[in-house]
Amino acid sequence: MEDCIFCKIIDGSIPSNKAYEDDKIVAFHDLEPQAPVHVLVIPKQHICCADKIDESNADVIAHIFTKIPEIAKSLGLTNGYRIVTNCGKEGCQSVYHIHFHLMGGKQLNGRMA
Ligand code: AMP
Repeated sequence: MEDCIFCKIIDGSIPSNKAYEDDKIVAFHDLEPQAPVHVLVIPKQHICCADKIDESNADVIAHIFTKIPEIAKSLGLTNGYRIVTNCGKEGCQSVYHIHFHLMGGKQLNGRMA
């Protein structure tokens, strides 16, 4: 997808600090981490946001969630973590390529909104 910064991270034209990659997904460290560990897990397939998850792309979303425990362990998140996806304007989504924030490495705040 032209002009999508995460598609450019996937194709290597924008550098990233990758934590995990396979044929379907990539996880890379957030540029502005909000926790000691803060990575973004994204599908290589361009899906704009959670509102566009459907039967045609549910397999890659499921794949992300089956890999998150492995990614979390590899980053030392043995005492828990948070997974967040922001969707749309009121959800404060700023990059319109679906991504799951995986955050941890400290006791997180209980409030989410
Ligand atoms: P959201 O606001 O939920 O759309 O999250 C977008 C996230 O992408 C933010 O946490 C940004 O810090 C992060 N981000 C934006 N550009 C990059 C980049 N080039 N490399 C890593 N993280 C990025």
